[in-house]
Amino acid sequence: MNATYHNFINGQWVPSSSGRTRENRNPANRNDVVAVFPHSDERDVNAAVAAAKEAFRSWRVMPAPKRAEILFRAAECIAAHKEEFARDMTREMGKVLKEARGDVQEAIDMTYYMAGEGRRMFGQTTPAELPDKFAMSVRSPIGVCGMITPWNFPMAIPSWKLIPALVCGNTAVLKPAEDTPLSALHFVRVLEEAGVPQGVVNLVIGSGPDVGAPLVKHSDVAVISFTGSTEVGGIVAEACAPAFRRVHLEMGGKNVLIVMDDANIDLAVDGALWGGFGTSGQRCTAASRVVLHKKAAGEFTRKFVERASKLKVGDGMEPSVDVGPVINEAQLERIQRYVRIGQEEGARLLCGGKRLDSGPLKDGWFYEPTIFGDVAPNMRIAQEEIFGPVVSIILCDDLDHAIEIGNSVQYGLSAAIYTQDVNRAFRAMRDMVTGIFYVNSSTIGAEVHLPFGGAKATGNGHREAGAAALDVFSEWKSIYVDYSGRLQKAQGIE
Ligand code: NAD
Repeated sequence: MNATYHNFINGQWVPSSSGRTRENRNPANRNDVVAVFPHSDERDVNAAVAAAKEAFRSWRVMPAPKRAEILFRAAECIAAHKEEFARDMTREMGKVLKEARGDVQEAIDMTYYMAGEGRRMFGQTTPAELPDKFAMSVRSPIGVCGMITPWNFPMAIPSWKLIPALVCGNTAVLKPAEDTPLSALHFVRVLEEAGVPQGVVNLVIGSGPDVGAPLVKHSDVAVISFTGSTEVGGIVAEACAPAFRRVHLEMGGKNVLIVMDDANIDLAVDGALWGGFGTSGQRCTAASRVVLHKKAAGEFTRKFVERASKLKVGDGMEPSVDVGPVINEAQLERIQRYVRIGQEEGARLLCGGKRLDSGPLKDGWFYEPTIFGDVAPNMRIAQEEIFGPVVSIILCDDLDHAIEIGNSVQYGLSAAIYTQDVNRAFRAMRDMVTGIFYVNSSTIGAEVHLPFGGAKATGNGHREAGAAALDVFSEWKSIYVDYSGRLQKAQGIE
């Protein structure tokens, strides 16, 4: 018998209104049914939003340090279940176990960090213009927050949205990705166990069109926080526009790792390897482009291809495996399509380029780590997000050329430079139009107390994580207190 899970609405675990369900299968072995989940629709969304709206009345006025105490307990609870959650994540999503542990750890770190905001959430106090007057600003909660998340960080990303929203005093309806509902469900169950009151957090599992779309246009939802592709982010933004609904978008990336001729080549190869092929290339921050100084091309390319060819692809549960499966059949087909496009465009396949479907890999969605050389910056494989284990090497003449190529894509999430020259490092940091920048370290790996997000078509100006995340989930209110008791003359200001 397969385990069957439900939605979480108004403090109850309930099946979808239609009774419809969907099986979730392990991408490393399609014969392995992870569990059965609800296939919800607009009715479930409406019930969840109604519960969240009602719960907002009391949650918003609970003192923030009290809300934070509950969240702190949730962090301890996730930490206690870390190994179990990581194993379930590898089974439902495919990433290798040590990366799944990292994903759960990110949720733990975020929850501890944001619980601390319950005693900070700083506003401003500032001198007032008049005598006997006091001026300050405070953060206010906004209301019901709808959250839509992708499958590649199945617990970390829900935590990045839920915890800052809750500590600010909002209530939430979370719609996780169809392929990874279990990790989101574990996270919500922990919040329930920690004592989050009825209706404050709701989970509705289902597809983008059936659950995401009605959530985005629901008139009682005050904020939408979305992480996913730039294409769907555009649809979400348009749906929010008519009602001026606040919308926070974290979208695609085509990140660049720049390797200069003075770089420590072994370090750069290591960064390119894990940045390009970690999580099977399915990270929004993946180093999918390497912009390589011509003088370093020979040594870097030889070592990079050699190491990529030796990566072990397989079931992420096995400790010796470096690269797990990709998430599903559609993603595998997308990768195959882009590899064909790259070849047609005239790029040279240096390694990989094939699906792996024999022996123990026959029942999963596996693809070889793939490197293209002779890539021109304007080729589609160098411009479009593939979201798989495919890296393009583009040669450059100097730093200015590298930055020009780096910035030539529509996205602006993450960039890295490998160099021993501090002047080059600082110039690249200044000139790369990205939300995240690394020196002598790959394009991946964020810490929860710094803002996370991107420029251009990666984001819409908001950030997750750090105190910046509070800006998504709170409204500033400026407060003036006049304690003079005097009648005021007309001041001529608004
Ligand atoms: P996706 O855009 O296909 O789906 C994201 C979420 O949107 C899912 O929950 C999906 O069900 C939902 N959705 C789909 N159609 C919808 C609609 N019409 N209305 C409302 N919701 C809808 O993305 P994905 O394949 O799950 O994730 C991969 C993408 O996410 C990549 O582009 C990646 O770069 C991006 N990503 C970005 C970040 C970041 O922080 N910038 C982090 C992780 C992933």
